[in-house]
Amino acid sequence: METTLRGVGVSHGVAIGEVRHMGTAVLEPPAREIAAEEAEREKGRARKAVEAVAADLTARGNLAGGEAQAVLEAQAMMAQDPELMADVERRIAGNSTAERAVYDAFAAYRELLAAAGEYLAGRVADLDDVRNRIVARLLGVPMPGVPDSDEPYVLVARDLAPADTALLDPALVLGFVTEEGGPTSHSAILARALGVPAVVALPGAGELAEGTLIAVDGSTGEIFVNPSEEKKGQLEAAAAARRAALSASTGPGVTADGHTVPLLANIGGPADVPAAVEAGAEGVGLFRTEFLFLDDSENAPSEEKQVAAYRQVLEAFPEGRVVVRVLDAGADKPLDFLTPADEPNPALGVRGLRSLLDHPEVLRTQLAALVKASEGLSVHLEVMAPMVADRADAKAFADACREAGLHAKFGAMVEIPSAALRARSILQEVEFLSLGTNDLAQYTFAADRQVGAVSRLQDPWQPALLDLVALSAEAAKAEGKSCGVCGEAASDPLLASVLTGLGVTSLSMGAASIPYVRAALAKFTLAQCERAAAAARATDSAEEARRAAQAVLSGE
Ligand code: PEP
Ligand code: MG
Repeated sequence: METTLRGVGVSHGVAIGEVRHMGTAVLEPPAREIAAEEAEREKGRARKAVEAVAADLTARGNLAGGEAQAVLEAQAMMAQDPELMADVERRIAGNSTAERAVYDAFAAYRELLAAAGEYLAGRVADLDDVRNRIVARLLGVPMPGVPDSDEPYVLVARDLAPADTALLDPALVLGFVTEEGGPTSHSAILARALGVPAVVALPGAGELAEGTLIAVDGSTGEIFVNPSEEKKGQLEAAAAARRAALSASTGPGVTADGHTVPLLANIGGPADVPAAVEAGAEGVGLFRTEFLFLDDSENAPSEEKQVAAYRQVLEAFPEGRVVVRVLDAGADKPLDFLTPADEPNPALGVRGLRSLLDHPEVLRTQLAALVKASEGLSVHLEVMAPMVADRADAKAFADACREAGLHAKFGAMVEIPSAALRARSILQEVEFLSLGTNDLAQYTFAADRQVGAVSRLQDPWQPALLDLVALSAEAAKAEGKSCGVCGEAASDPLLASVLTGLGVTSLSMGAASIPYVRAALAKFTLAQCERAAAAARATDSAEEARRAAQAVLSGE
């Protein structure tokens, strides 16, 4: 019998196929005491396994490139953490086997993170994944991860570690469904980068029996279990219609009545540029530069390394716009040389621009690298700061840009509600705003973006979030300046039309979403978008807002 489940759609498209579960069994090695003379051999085995897993993660990263590479390299570094290794060796000296010592040392590290109040859900998933890989290698059993299958399937997991999402083969993996993870988690961002339909935060996903036929609608978040022939037909027809509309849509972002809304790409580095160009991005709306820093969290990359990476990106858009975000470290992206280790709540601590103002030399180097990288190029370079809270923050950033001699527009990201509420005051210091709706939702609703259980509050359709978007866009209009969106909200085609109606002036998203958003915008006039935005804001919940906008735009 057909049943319907509802999660959060995070990557467009329809996938119909059989369920295959991710091999996530936690391998708990037996607690066996070893003789003292075995200790050296066990230490050697542990070291070799750690090195092999780190090398494997690095190789997967090289294969995947882009944002995935930075995440995998960060995991490889986690595996080689010298303190963890010292703890493993201490446990072996206390008569543990190598596998048990690794298992216990990682468990202790995990607890330490939790006890310190550092709830880094995304990092904990990464840490567990690294541990499982090392233990599996030591036990000589298959690696946990993507199942072996020659037939295409829908991958179902509790959560997907970056190591796995990075290697999903779109030809074999039709789509994926996870029990955990929110719409702005890094797994969701990676899924969109791969162009694989995905639904996250689906309670009970783990109970779907292996081999069950399901249909995944990554746009609506619906999962149809044992879909009828009729339902399959409907979904396939809708997907085919969407594909046809997409291939017909090219060119710049524009509404049906000619109101232009540039469609830009979110990238993590030069490796993401080809997909952005292929999708017809009119430039880059968010270059997350911290991915250049994640491969060595103890040192900032040299100015030369930064110049080379920035130049490659800037050269790809000779007449376009490239918005570079200065380093956004801290919270879910900690860097040892910048991020305080003992913060009780890192998301509310010294992160983003706050870290850079505490370490002005890091900001100076980054801005100097941008000056050099942009020399002689006609690209429109714009530079923005993450986590701007008030006018003083905006002024400090603009001063640093001026001192560096940067010929670019300086902007502020609106990610903290205070910045939206006082947008006009911030605009006295900078030339544009860019709404980071992922963090803006996190801080507006006090809902950690990594936690599946609060994904309802992470929904960018929440009317309170739409109000803050409207406030920012109105402030920018009053000041004669621009206000884009570069958070994941921009990648939802229906919401993109609503954001346009709220007065947003550009939309930046993962490259795979650009054709969907372009096709949706082209269907409606600006006045229709404005009516849909007003209808959405007049509701009291994300679900009602979505329905109200849909009703206006489908002429119901
Ligand atoms: C955001 O917060 O919306 C954003 C674009 O930045 P990031 O996702 O990198 O925190
Ligand atoms: Mg952010």
